[in-house]
Amino acid sequence: MRRFAGSCRFVYNKALALQKERYECGEKKLGYAELCKLLTEWRNSTETAWLGDAPVHPLQQALQDLERAYANFFAKRAGFPKFKKKGRHDSFRYPDPKQIKLDQTNSRIFLPKLGWLRYRNSRKVLGTVKNVTVSQSCGKWFVSIQTEREVEQPIPTGGAVGVDMGITRFATLSDGSFYAPLNSFKRHEARLRKAQQALSRKVKFSNNWKKAKARVQRIYSRIANARRDFLHKVSTAICKSHAIVCIEDLQVRNMSKSAAGTADAPGKNVRAKSGLNKSILDQGWYEFRRQLDYKLAWKGGRLIVVPPQNTSRTCPCCGYVSADNRPTQARFKCAECGFEGNADVVGAINILSRGMQMLRDEGQDTTDAAVGMRVGEPPVSARMACGSNCTGGRKQEPAETTAQGAIHAQRGRNLRPSGRGGCQRLPHTRISAGNSGAINRVD
Ligand SMILES: [Zn+2]
Repeated sequence: MRRFAGSCRFVYNKALALQKERYECGEKKLGYAELCKLLTEWRNSTETAWLGDAPVHPLQQALQDLERAYANFFAKRAGFPKFKKKGRHDSFRYPDPKQIKLDQTNSRIFLPKLGWLRYRNSRKVLGTVKNVTVSQSCGKWFVSIQTEREVEQPIPTGGAVGVDMGITRFATLSDGSFYAPLNSFKRHEARLRKAQQALSRKVKFSNNWKKAKARVQRIYSRIANARRDFLHKVSTAICKSHAIVCIEDLQVRNMSKSAAGTADAPGKNVRAKSGLNKSILDQGWYEFRRQLDYKLAWKGGRLIVVPPQNTSRTCPCCGYVSADNRPTQARFKCAECGFEGNADVVGAINILSRGMQMLRDEGQDTTDAAVGMRVGEPPVSARMACGSNCTGGRKQEPAETTAQGAIHAQRGRNLRPSGRGGCQRLPHTRISAGNSGAINRVD
């Protein structure tokens, strides 16, 4: 399998080198069909006869991958295709389902030139097999089976919710519940640093170097696994109970810019910012958003991405915008009307009302914040915003004339089912004391 993956990498790199060469000579880029013809030549030549040992379809798929890399580059979705490196994303793909036999009851799969292979089932394979990818990570081999099947149009359940992302709280929901962060990298940082130091002392490519390298890779894969598991759990929990999720359009790349500056103009707080950057990058916000997006789509729900400006500085009660509204990182106190609350929850409420506004701008009816829900079902989170949180404020009646937040507060109150005050908590929500004082938001 390692040899097959290596052959695919070789074909990909050879084709990429050829395309680059042709470009420099001013010649036209070769198409997929022409590359396939060349592949047959390579397989038949004495120099690279070993390519003939690998199955031909995965090799052609490598050429298709290159075609797609070029297409993504031309469409400005990605950078220029890079050469593949040994040991990084080693994989090969069988595109022809006719050549693949899947025997789920006995946990085995038949692949061309590999024969029957035993595997461990992570989940049931539903639908008809379309293609199979074999990949290697950290010394383990994985098989991914892509299938196709008809699914009924799902009916979303639950109401709308706003989600505010932060450092001390990974995600805060507009109903007041929140998820504590995992910080998988932080937990393993010391061990990783030691392993990396040990690696740097070894003679490159010696046996001890290989062992040390494997150790470093193992720690990295544990960090990645823990993070992935956490993100999947949180995103599933949120998607299960909400039809519409509003989230800020955070530019992680801008937020995690280095503070180091240049040699002429060194930046301030470099260490603090670098620590913050590590935390931001460790959280996997973008991956979280991606998961929310497709999981909501599976359930017939929708993800709404709202502009992030001032979400943590706007009063959800009267709409007053000011940095003075945030006396500390964790607390929110409106300088105008005295509305008080947790800053992250306030941020989430603002995100929610912005998302609702965007829906209204699209011409959707959000009267009960129940877009996409079955008619007749009680709106779940319309009571979201200020309705339950506003009680501590001086001014209980929000002004009708001001910004959207106020209108929302009003709406929330009207729709609150009688006899129920507090906010609904998710079943899997982890509640823990948020530590104030530390940096927990960057706007
Ligand atoms: Zn206010």
